[in-house]
Amino acid sequence: MMSAPRLEIDLRKIRHNARTLVERLGKRGISVTGVTKATLGSAEIAATLLEAGVKRLGDSRIENIEAMHLAQVPASMTLIRSPMLSQAKRVVMNADVSCNTEITVIRKLSFEAQQTDRTHGVILMVELGDLREGIMPDDLLDCVRETLSLPNIVFEGIGTNLACRSGVSPDGKNMAMLTEIADSIEATLGLTVEIVSGGNSANLEWALSGAEIGRINDLRLGEAILLGCETLHRQPIDGLHTDAITLCAEVIEAKIKPSMPSGRIAQTAFGEAPPVTDRGLVTQAILAVGQQDVDPSGLQAPNGIDIMGASSDHLILESVSNDLSVGTEVSFQLNYSALVRAMTSSFVTKFMTGMQQQNPR
Ligand SMILES: *Cc1c(COP(=O)(O)O)cnc(C)c1O
Repeated sequence: MMSAPRLEIDLRKIRHNARTLVERLGKRGISVTGVTKATLGSAEIAATLLEAGVKRLGDSRIENIEAMHLAQVPASMTLIRSPMLSQAKRVVMNADVSCNTEITVIRKLSFEAQQTDRTHGVILMVELGDLREGIMPDDLLDCVRETLSLPNIVFEGIGTNLACRSGVSPDGKNMAMLTEIADSIEATLGLTVEIVSGGNSANLEWALSGAEIGRINDLRLGEAILLGCETLHRQPIDGLHTDAITLCAEVIEAKIKPSMPSGRIAQTAFGEAPPVTDRGLVTQAILAVGQQDVDPSGLQAPNGIDIMGASSDHLILESVSNDLSVGTEVSFQLNYSALVRAMTSSFVTKFMTGMQQQNPR
């Protein structure tokens, strides 16, 4: 018996998704940084992305990069969240490159790199309207200048991140600004800006639309590879698998119950009680999975099954047509939020298939 709840991770489908995006973007002169943050630094998934041709790996958490480092994943690793000052040493010890917006942090990275006799690459992130991380464009040149002057630090290039905080869409205008900024750094300082990282999965619509790509030569992709969707409208991407990762959970109670609660209604385990209507008797099942394991609002149930609610450890389903007797397993598709929570829950087993065969020696 396989344990439940579990994430079933089909590496073959992830490999296909990654390879498809690497090929489509490659035609446009853009390489892919495979983002592993939703996989908790899984060495198997990292290896799968590399087999598919991603150029480097990126993760927002140094812990995940350390895990991949320890597993000897053979790739250049970029920390894609600004390093904590308090983690500067771990960052230079484990990541080859980090994305930065604060000169104080870059100075500390330089200090730690000198202490350990390493060099560390720096990508400077530029604010282009989404108002999450990024140096204001007017302040960028000064920051590049000081970065160039710091011992054991290599200025690798620039990047931007859109959509995540405010939903600002990557488009011809903001992407052209990043190109102009790269050009102006080169013209002013007489150097080559190697990496111009245009963004994340939200950039795919723009990057594959046939638009002028300019200097953009890298995208950092996580969700599109793992879930097969672009992230501006969460539509499936043509030719990609949207079910590379599914969540399986087990029925622990199956009963006919009234649809109307009885008694005086106050708060539930997670706040306000939802409005209920009397639909008579319903066929209800409880799965042994809850808020502690997954974001229930990000689950998509199979046809004919409705998700009615969840508490810490219970997910309530109703179905007329499906047999949801005790012991039955139900599989769900997940959105990014459900995926991240399930990946990080120690109660959820990760079951992988489709590992590539090692070459016989
Ligand atoms: C998470 C993240 C990404 C990847 O985003 P997806 O939507 O998963 O493709 C890229 N860049 C940065 C800075 C991120 O934090």
